[in-house]
Amino acid sequence: MSLTTSLEDTIVAISSPYGMGGVAVIRCSGKKALDILKQLFFKRNKLPFDFNKWQARRMYYGLLMDEGQIIDEVMVCWFAFPHSYTGEDVVEVYCHGSVYVQQRILQAFVQRGSRIAEAGEFTIRAYLNGKLTLSEAEAIGDLIHSETESAHRLAMNQLRGGYQQLINQLREQLLQFASLLELELDFSEEDVEFANRQQLIEILNESLKKMSELMISFKMGNAIKTGVPVVILGKPNAGKSTLLNALLNEEKAIVSDIPGTTRDLIEDKLIIQGILFRIIDTAGLREAKDVIEKIGIERARQSIEKAMIVILLQDITEYDIQETQNHLKLIQSINPDVAIVQVYNKIDKIKQQQDSNFNDEVIFISAKEKYNIEVLKNKLVDIVVQKGYQPHQPMVSNVRHFNELQNAKQFLEKALESLKNKVTTELVAEDLRFAIMHLSNITGNISSEDVLKNIFSKFCIGK
Ligand code: GDP
Repeated sequence: MSLTTSLEDTIVAISSPYGMGGVAVIRCSGKKALDILKQLFFKRNKLPFDFNKWQARRMYYGLLMDEGQIIDEVMVCWFAFPHSYTGEDVVEVYCHGSVYVQQRILQAFVQRGSRIAEAGEFTIRAYLNGKLTLSEAEAIGDLIHSETESAHRLAMNQLRGGYQQLINQLREQLLQFASLLELELDFSEEDVEFANRQQLIEILNESLKKMSELMISFKMGNAIKTGVPVVILGKPNAGKSTLLNALLNEEKAIVSDIPGTTRDLIEDKLIIQGILFRIIDTAGLREAKDVIEKIGIERARQSIEKAMIVILLQDITEYDIQETQNHLKLIQSINPDVAIVQVYNKIDKIKQQQDSNFNDEVIFISAKEKYNIEVLKNKLVDIVVQKGYQPHQPMVSNVRHFNELQNAKQFLEKALESLKNKVTTELVAEDLRFAIMHLSNITGNISSEDVLKNIFSKFCIGK
């Protein structure tokens, strides 16, 4: 697909999900969209509409006919250029959701000079026609894929601007200095200094700080989008499977497979208070049985490395303080950032619920009798909040944005070093230029087709 030439084509797709439904939407965008519709859409008495009197963004009711044959009774809306999602002429047909009807209408559009849209192609056009910034377009992709309240809020925040303004501010500031430095280079023979070096150093430090804050938010932002990784660790028979079932069974809203997760890695997912949790690689851990003893096993180690939270599950009737300390140390040595929740199971087996050896951080449950499962769930949410999840704060959740920030940061750090060491202006100016380019890549102004294709190919057909 060539992004520039494809703008000449008129494209069509079924924009509603594949399969049978109450209603389906067929969307067509491009120069021929309205012309094609005129050949297919008629009044209820089969007579043609007076399209000269048509108003944009109004619903019309009529018959979708192909070569004299009625395919369906439909509603139609025309979004006139440039006031549409793509910024082109768009027509949308709302038909009955039969797969046959949808396909027939699609065919009718194709036979009259439209071509089937590729994944994300409507949104590419919206971007190329200046209707959306790149970051907004990506947010739409995330919005479509969001399965939980928190992922939805994150996507919505990005769609409404999110950290774009901050990035633009940083960019503007750096641009100002970059142009002063460029000016100095133009006058290099005269040895003038337009850009105040001390001020520039301050601006660079401030920019680096703000960028670091955004980058820190990525770990959480990404976890909110793809699921907070949790590992349940415990000796054989501690009750890991029982606990997992208790957690999952109680949650009616177990989400479907997240696209992109590998098939061989079985993950259980649950939503607690609108946050998606991913119990990682439990199949592997269950297989390995004595996980703690075999912690050398690469798989268990990797799970702990990937986790944001480890639930260390122990059988209260086999309580052993020394062993617990060893386990805690081991987990911390593998992943110093991980939050560990100490959970004692099988509390139903003993009368005494607490012991002076336990602190407040310990949770007592009975996985079998589903006692205190709610407390454990609340604890998981608390940890996510403690680790910096603020529902209304913009967070970086997009890997591409994170990488661009990282690149920009490296160039700024280089520029700062050069300034401090009084290296030639040329090098500083060049590093600033690269940093600015990477920041620009977050919100738009990307010209590389490869990058654009990569971003938009993740969309669904019809969007
Ligand atoms: P895993 O090896 O850690 O996955 O442990 P399981 O979930 O298979 O549980 C081991 C045994 O402990 C099973 O017989 C469970 O029924 C039992 N069990 C698990 N949780 C509890 C509990 O809260 N109370 C009691 N009394 N038994 C439990």
